[in-house]
Amino acid sequence: MLKSRLKENKKTNCFQCQGEIIVKYNYPRKDYSLINNWWYWTEQEENKDKYICNSCLKKLYYENKKEYWKTITSPAKRMRMRNHIYSLTK
Ligand SMILES: [Zn+2]
Repeated sequence: MLKSRLKENKKTNCFQCQGEIIVKYNYPRKDYSLINNWWYWTEQEENKDKYICNSCLKKLYYENKKEYWKTITSPAKRMRMRNHIYSLTK
């Protein structure tokens, strides 16, 4: 019998509120979802192992715009973030 190669989702904690985050494994991309990875948004090497939950992302986007513009500098990531936030609020 073939051993299952299914990867499991992993659990981590938000570096801001310490809330639990489930990082989903994405089969088509063969990697973990980057949507809650702080490094993905900030593109700063020091944030490589930091994860941020959706409610903290929302808070940053809606209530902390100054910090948002300062930390998320890539135009592509800002566009991605906007889409992500909108998909959360729908
Ligand atoms: Zn959080």
